Amino acid sequence: MTARILDGTKIRDAIFAELKSEVARLAAQSIRPGLAAVLVGENPASQLYVKSKIAACEQLGLASWMHTPPTSISTDELLRLADQLNTDSAVDGILIQLPLPSQVDTKRVLEAVDPAKDVDGFHPVSLGRLVSGRPGLVACTPAGCMEILRRNKIPIEGANAVVLGRSDIVGKPMALLLMHANATVTICHSKTRDLPDAVRRADILVAAMGKAGYVQPDWIRPGAAVIDVGTNKVTHAAEAESLLRNFPARLQKFRQKGSVLIGDVHPDAVNTAGALTPVPGGVGPMTITMLMSNTVKAALLRRGKIVTSPSADTMHSAGAR
Ligand code: NAP
Repeated sequence: MTARILDGTKIRDAIFAELKSEVARLAAQSIRPGLAAVLVGENPASQLYVKSKIAACEQLGLASWMHTPPTSISTDELLRLADQLNTDSAVDGILIQLPLPSQVDTKRVLEAVDPAKDVDGFHPVSLGRLVSGRPGLVACTPAGCMEILRRNKIPIEGANAVVLGRSDIVGKPMALLLMHANATVTICHSKTRDLPDAVRRADILVAAMGKAGYVQPDWIRPGAAVIDVGTNKVTHAAEAESLLRNFPARLQKFRQKGSVLIGDVHPDAVNTAGALTPVPGGVGPMTITMLMSNTVKAALLRRGKIVTSPSADTMHSAGAR
C-alpha cells in the first residue's frame, strides 16, 4: 500500500482563496483585519518566521505592523507594548514571536495579551475555552491538523486517535480538538510504557514529539491516517542515509545541501499508512494559514459577528458559527 499524500500546500491555497473573499467582504463594510507582530532582538529564524507571516498578511490584504524592540527589552517594557496593542482598535491579532530573551518573563507577557486578540491561541483563557468547548481562538498548528483531516474527509467521529506529545502548543490542544470531534483519544508522552502498542491502535495518528523518524512503519496500523507534525533538521550523514535509504532523490538533495527536514514518522511509513502528511509540505504550511484565519476570525468575533468561513470548523465548537 502506498499512502495518499495529504498535501498541506493545496489546503493552504484553498483557505487563502476563501480568506481573500472574506477580506473583500469585510472591506466592503470598511473593516480591515490587522495583525501586530512583536519580534524581539535579531534571532535569524524568528526574523524569517515573522517576515513570512507579514508577507502572508500582505498577500491577503490584511493590515500588519511589526514591532522590533531590542534584545535588552525588559518584561515591564514588553507588558507596556502588549497593553498598547490591546487598546489599539485597528489591531485584531497580536503575535509575540517566541523565544523571548532570557530576562523576559515569557508567561507574563503571553498572559498580558487580550484573549480576544490571542491569534496564537496560547493564552490560558483561550486554552480554557478550548477545554470547555466554547468559541475561541485555537493554537494554529493543531487547528491546521484538523483542517487537513476534515478537508481530506478522514472520518474522525468514533475513530481511535493517538496523539504523540503533550505540549501546550501542539499535543494538548490537538487531543482536545480530536475529542471535541468525537474521536476516542489517547495521549502519549515520554513516560508512555509501550508506545508501539498504543500507536498500533490508531486509526488517526498525530505525531508531535520532535524526534526524527522515531515512529516505525510497522507500528502503524495498515491504512491509518498519519499527521506528522515533527519538523526535525537532520544534518548527520549516517542518520540521513539510514532514514532515506528508500528515497534516492531526497538523499541526493541531502548530499548537495547538507541537511534535510524529517518528520517524527519514519519516511518508510508511506508504505503502511493509508494517508500521510509529507514533511515538508504537510502540516508546515498550515500553521501560518491558520494564523491568518485566526486574525480574520478575531476581527469578526471582536465585532460580534458570526464566523461563517469554512475554516471556522477549527473554532472547535459549532457554537462559534
Ligand atoms: P515539545 O514541547 O518538545 O514536546 C514534545 C512532546 O513529545 C512532549 O510531550 C514529550 O513528552 C513527547 N515525547 C518526546 N519524546 C518522546 C518519546 N520518546 N515517546 C513519546 N513521547 C515523547 O515539542 P512541540 O513544541 O510540541 O513540537 C513537537 C514537534 O512538532 C517538533 O518537531 C516541532 O518542531 C514540531 N512543530 C512543527 C510545527 C509546524 O508548523 N509544522 C509547529 C509546532 C511544532 P514529555 O511531555 O513527557 O516530555
